[in-house]
Amino acid sequence: MAEFSITNTTAPTTDAARHAALADPGFGRYYVDHQVVIDHIDGDGWQDPRVIPMSEWALHPAAAVLHYGQEIFEGLKAYRRDDDSIWLFRPDRNAARFVHSAERMAMATLPEDLFIDSVRQLVELEQAWVPVSENEQSLYIRPFMIASEPYLGVREANNYRFAVIATPAGPYYSEPVKLWITPNYTRAAPGGTGTAKCGGNYASSLVATKEAAANGCGQVLWTDGAEHKWVEECGTMNIMFVTADGELVTPALGSILAGVTRDSILKLAPMHDLTPVERPITIDEVLDGVASGQIPEVFACGTAAVVTPITGFNSPDRGVQKVGDGQPGVKTRAIRQHLVDIQYGRAEDPFGWTQ
Ligand code: PMP
Repeated sequence: MAEFSITNTTAPTTDAARHAALADPGFGRYYVDHQVVIDHIDGDGWQDPRVIPMSEWALHPAAAVLHYGQEIFEGLKAYRRDDDSIWLFRPDRNAARFVHSAERMAMATLPEDLFIDSVRQLVELEQAWVPVSENEQSLYIRPFMIASEPYLGVREANNYRFAVIATPAGPYYSEPVKLWITPNYTRAAPGGTGTAKCGGNYASSLVATKEAAANGCGQVLWTDGAEHKWVEECGTMNIMFVTADGELVTPALGSILAGVTRDSILKLAPMHDLTPVERPITIDEVLDGVASGQIPEVFACGTAAVVTPITGFNSPDRGVQKVGDGQPGVKTRAIRQHLVDIQYGRAEDPFGWTQ
């Protein structure tokens, strides 16, 4: 492990206050008492890895991130098992994706082992903030990086700040949702930033989420930027289709985010008598398949909700269409349970994903 200096907070959350917070944590309502910060200054590499009390930062108003959005982030969870031990799920995948995102945004790259060490440092220090496993509670960990250099010219920054914060996440019931197939917006284009986890992707998605809500849907189904014809992903999750022929079909990588959950479920699929297939798939194939019964189940997947059943679609062209009987499908529920059981150590971890 890298050497981290640790400055303990002089005002730790009291046990009573933390217990009260963990009794109903919500999401993003409370933060652990410390943060990890590492700065990258003038091309001199990553300096002074440190754990410091949670607090505001001072940032020059000209900091490049505030103007041109050079920012990337990650999201992963720490899970408390029934024996009270605390585990991470595939943090190496988040570390690798963070490097990819940094390269796409022309930012300094953080060595993968330093990313993982930073997460471990914070979780180890803040163990008390990891909720009990009941109802799939967890500690959500948010590593991120910004261009901190004050400079108003448009060029890659010389100074960056990497940090890790964490927030307890309460029971996450993956409510089934309907997807709005927006004719007006796209999330990614060939050559764009779809494969990077950069803040701008999320800022530009919000207007489409509003449009989805106005059309009775919980999330947006994103299609390709050129033709609005090919399925990409939905909301902040990847999307998967169970077929009547025993396939688990998901859009191929290209302009979508390479989800850790997506990859994990593709690897678990054969254990559920499903053949994983990564290929381009059109909206028409999906809506026809849903109508004919060729696609009896649809679900979305991502770190936050693990698996979210998709129970319908709405689009200007084809109106509202229900998936199956409008209830979460059998395979959807089984795959979700399997992944959660691996994360909480209740099922064998055949791929060595947990640490
Ligand atoms: N797609 C997008 C756009 C996302 O923001 C996320 C969440 N990071 C995902 C897919 C799912 O990725 P993961 O399984 O790694 O959480």
